[in-house]
Amino acid sequence: MEHTQPKLASVEKQNLIEIQQLVKTFSNAAGEFTALRGIDLSFQEGEFVAVIGKSGSGKSTLLNMFTGIDHPTSGKVLVGGVDIYAMSESKRSLWRGRNLGIVFQFFQLLPMLNLLENVMLPMDYVGMYEVNERPKRAMELLRMVGLEEQAQKLPRAVSTGQQQSAAIARALSTDAPIIVADEPTGNLDSRSASHIIDLFTELSDRGKTIVMVTHDPSMTKRTSRTVVISDGVIVNETIAQALPLLSQSLMKELSAKVEKLHFQPGETIIRSNESVEKFFMIAKGDVDVVLHGRGKDDLVISQLGMNDFFGEMELLRGGKSIASVRAGSERPVELLALPREDFNWLMQESPLTEKAIGDIVQKRLGEKKQADRRKRNRLFGRK
Ligand code: ADP
Ligand code: MG
Repeated sequence: MEHTQPKLASVEKQNLIEIQQLVKTFSNAAGEFTALRGIDLSFQEGEFVAVIGKSGSGKSTLLNMFTGIDHPTSGKVLVGGVDIYAMSESKRSLWRGRNLGIVFQFFQLLPMLNLLENVMLPMDYVGMYEVNERPKRAMELLRMVGLEEQAQKLPRAVSTGQQQSAAIARALSTDAPIIVADEPTGNLDSRSASHIIDLFTELSDRGKTIVMVTHDPSMTKRTSRTVVISDGVIVNETIAQALPLLSQSLMKELSAKVEKLHFQPGETIIRSNESVEKFFMIAKGDVDVVLHGRGKDDLVISQLGMNDFFGEMELLRGGKSIASVRAGSERPVELLALPREDFNWLMQESPLTEKAIGDIVQKRLGEKKQADRRKRNRLFGRK
């Protein structure tokens, strides 16, 4: 009964948010400062994205651009196909209320309203839920962030962390499809922070799109994607994921040095016993690492996926490739390739990365040895 099957999750999703050539220049008495320098970026429905970058790199400015709170100097922001800066100010404000739940960096709770009333405010603004249902729903949200007991208190009567949690509850109050949060866990202890991330994960599993600015790199383990911004420029995401220990300035430099390569399903990328002159990071698709036997006796010793890398073994140890690498049979592969001399430069610049890659080489050599043994045994009919 094919027609009753739900849609496959792997079907290409539409971009929910699309940012094109976005530039933001601030002008004031001191002169001009360009905080965003030509950003192209898109987010799909259901993604849970971490935006990371140093203080002053442009994270908050970027968020303000697609919440429609501040105006870009040039470029476009499309949300659900709608150009939000083509709307009038009042239309945009209503649009924002319906579509976005925003957690501001400095909370912006209204000081004369208690926490419950603060959480209900956005429901009133967009006219969501029956008036007499609003307190119940707001209470539920406060319970979710551990503030049930504080509901009747004014913001100044609770801790900074509790204010932040209340701001998160408020952002969820209209059940908006997009949640935008600027350092939402910045004032929380690690247990509360982890609880908020659990909550966001659950929401994104249910289809909400979450974009969260954080300066805590460990958060990126919990999100489905990381966007790195450095001095108003987006750093390549594959590099940021594959080599997370690089400094942001090195990531940026590296982004300019890599070359994009494409391979068809099943196509050979590296032949065994040939010299390897590049370091490869996987941007899309997956690859098989294969040991060749006589005749058809190939053995796939490992599969590598998005944000994994290969070629490091040969570059670090010298010599020819000990296995071949080919694109997986399912879909095309996109790689970022870094020439040997740039790879060597990188290892010199980032000892931490060199160490991490060295550890992986050791691990892979161990796996290779085991695979060799399995293969020999198979050849001689042993188990
Ligand atoms: P982040 O959130 O990554 O810490 P911001 O986006 O707040 O950084 O700021 C990026 C840069 O833009 C900083 O150098 C900041 O000083 C500057 N900036 C932000 N807002 C303004 C403004 N209203 N006027 C002038 N400069 C600003
Ligand atoms: Mg900020």
